[in-house]
Amino acid sequence: MRTFDYHAVGSAAEALDLLAQYGEDAHLMAGGTSLMLMMEQGLIQPGHVVGLRSANELRGIGASSGGIEIRALTTHREVERSSHVRDYCPTLVEAFERIATIRIRNQATIGGNLVHADPAQDPPPILLALDAEVVIQSKIGERTVPLDGFFRDYFETVVEEGELLASVRLPAIVAGTKSTYVKFLPRTEDDYATLSVGAALRLGADGSCEHVRVALGSAAPTPIRARKVEAALQGQRLTGPMIDEAAELVRDEVDPLDDVRGSAKYKREMARVWTGRALRSLLDGGGK
Ligand SMILES: Cc1cc2nc3c(=O)[nH]c(=O)nc-3n(C[C@H](O)[C@H](O)[C@H](O)COP(=O)(O)OP(=O)(O)OC[C@H]3O[C@@H](n4cnc5c(N)ncnc54)[C@H](O)[C@@H]3O)c2cc1C
Repeated sequence: MRTFDYHAVGSAAEALDLLAQYGEDAHLMAGGTSLMLMMEQGLIQPGHVVGLRSANELRGIGASSGGIEIRALTTHREVERSSHVRDYCPTLVEAFERIATIRIRNQATIGGNLVHADPAQDPPPILLALDAEVVIQSKIGERTVPLDGFFRDYFETVVEEGELLASVRLPAIVAGTKSTYVKFLPRTEDDYATLSVGAALRLGADGSCEHVRVALGSAAPTPIRARKVEAALQGQRLTGPMIDEAAELVRDEVDPLDDVRGSAKYKREMARVWTGRALRSLLDGGGK
């Protein structure tokens, strides 16, 4: 590993000053769980690492316009154990409980997870299903980006040089909306997903679909929304067979990679199967 200077900062402003000073030779570090692996493998070789751990303003969970805001440095374990998050949406808690091991969850942060942008990670599909947006901060101000437009490519996001991710905002959930997160991992319990689905559904009094979201992980170079599936269901009076038919459409939306967890062909099929199962469970009164 290339030697580097480590700068422990106490605020976002200090971090942004260092990013401005050292440009592309500087890299932010939150929990360090992914960054250190990338550095060990020589994939990233910064001369300056800016450690965010003491920037306490970037940590914590609070209310935001009827929904919640999770600051970037909040660890996965803090999200999982937060009564605030559980009250807001128990499915979010369940999704964070599925990440790796407690040891990783104690160290890794929601901001690091999103900016790392590995498409196999657990938070993105459920955060997409809940219509999350992220707040990105730079020396000239803040911008808010829907999570749906955040992931650009494999391990690439819209966060530019000189910017940091400050928080994740989740809107109020309309009464009657149910959500679920399913993680298909046939190898070991602490593995990355072979395929994952986050879904949300709200039915009207007549059984018609008022609101639906379907998002997938490990299904393409980035986490994705399954818009064709959503469009096929929106406004319809849902039945099980109708969901199965809509789930078929996900095959055209995914673009999985061949890897140790399965071939692209297998994952495309698993995308159909798990999309159907997630939505059927919500139709049958499951989810939270
Ligand atoms: C063994 C192992 C198993 C894992 N299994 C899973 C799993 O099952 N599911 C899952 O979802 N994840 C899994 N992960 C990934 C885990 O969630 C990561 O920890 C996460 O991707 C990175 O979080 P971090 O805080 O450690 O980020 P870091 O490693 O510190 O940083 C990651 C990247 O994000 C950037 N960054 C960090 N914070 C910010 C910020 N606020 N603003 C801008 N850029 C920032 C860094 O510069 C770096 O490029 C696993 C990781 C390991 C090591």
